[in-house]
Amino acid sequence: MPARTAVPSSSPVVRISRRGADRLAQGHAWVYRSDVLSADNVPPGSLVAIVDHRGKKLGTALYSSASQIAIRLLSHGTVADFPTLFRDRVAQAISYRQRIVRDSDAYRVISSEADFLPGLIVDRYNDIVSLQILTQAMDTEIVRATLISMLTQSLHPASIVERVDPRVRELEQLPPLTSSLLQGDKTSTIFTMNGVQFHHDALAGQKTGAFLDQRENYAAAVPYADGEALDVFCYHGGFALHLAPRCSHVTGVDSSRPALEVADRNATLNRTQLNGKEIEWMEANAFDLLRDYATSGRAYDTIVLDPPPFAKSKRDLDAALRGYKELNLRALKMLRPGGVLVTCSCSCSYHVGQADFLEMLASAAIDAHRTLRLVEIRGQAQDHPILLNVPETAYLKCFILDVNN
Ligand code: SAH
Repeated sequence: MPARTAVPSSSPVVRISRRGADRLAQGHAWVYRSDVLSADNVPPGSLVAIVDHRGKKLGTALYSSASQIAIRLLSHGTVADFPTLFRDRVAQAISYRQRIVRDSDAYRVISSEADFLPGLIVDRYNDIVSLQILTQAMDTEIVRATLISMLTQSLHPASIVERVDPRVRELEQLPPLTSSLLQGDKTSTIFTMNGVQFHHDALAGQKTGAFLDQRENYAAAVPYADGEALDVFCYHGGFALHLAPRCSHVTGVDSSRPALEVADRNATLNRTQLNGKEIEWMEANAFDLLRDYATSGRAYDTIVLDPPPFAKSKRDLDAALRGYKELNLRALKMLRPGGVLVTCSCSCSYHVGQADFLEMLASAAIDAHRTLRLVEIRGQAQDHPILLNVPETAYLKCFILDVNN
């Protein structure tokens, strides 16, 4: 965690338990409310000094009076000047993306904890930048103004929007707010990933509009794709559009009609690459559809599974693994010999570890009487970095397997 500076004597102090202190010593960035021993008169969203049960200084953090995550560490040292630290970290996040993002004008510019800016997400979609504020501490005019100025200077967007998740604001006990333009008046654009174009409506869609964390997995899946393909949980068609040029036929399935309407417009946008090939979009409950298809003996050469998060907490782990197994088992039964399975476990499912997921897949392979080769073990795109000692920041898994028999 970056540099040490002098402590402003005015920083309120939060005292934490030995368990909370151990967590920080293990390199984690969060302390839960149950490990806060005292936070008397600490205003919501303050920059606070953290001390352990004996009063020893442990670092500087952002405090939430409402969230179960009461403390999000900013530095193991002291922070004299939050605005300067904030600007430095925003600049570092932007410069990291300039170095690592290739073949895309859409990517995550700031990824909360993983850019040492807990509670802040910024995504770029070509000339529209979208920000999301997730904590009390980041919900300030100075944060918005600094971001608008820095993002304008370095990325020159036509517009900057703020996307609001009302549930997050409620949990953080922040006043209600609606998604809106913060600068400029452009609300839709077209962005490109790996040569594939997508419509973007800055004030609609899930997350900030797209699943940018899958960007590198779309490209990775392409060389394996072949024959008839099924993209299950397709949203705006990210996988389907990438795979279509290599496949004889592609079907995308999702339960959201608005998502499929965008997917269809995306197919039109890419008609040149698709060479007149039509992608079929199906509005269906994927669980029911896969059950029906598997029992009726439907067969595919390429199947993508990218379901919504199953495990929101550790308690849901067993149920989540059963859900994943059911889906993957059905897909495996439907794959022709030589076929390919691209299977993902996405956002918030970090409770399902890589070993758990692979064990589930191995068991599904046995039940389906298939021999699988694991050809790629993948995660979220590099613009969504992972903090090694904060497992929650590694939230997307994507495995590519081929079926031998
Ligand atoms: N593969 C997509 C992201 C998928 S996100 C991409 O790369 O962009 C999960 C998707 O599952 C969402 O689009 C959501 O609408 C859809 N979904 C959720 N429950 C579903 C269900 N029961 N059946 C089909 N689709 C579902």
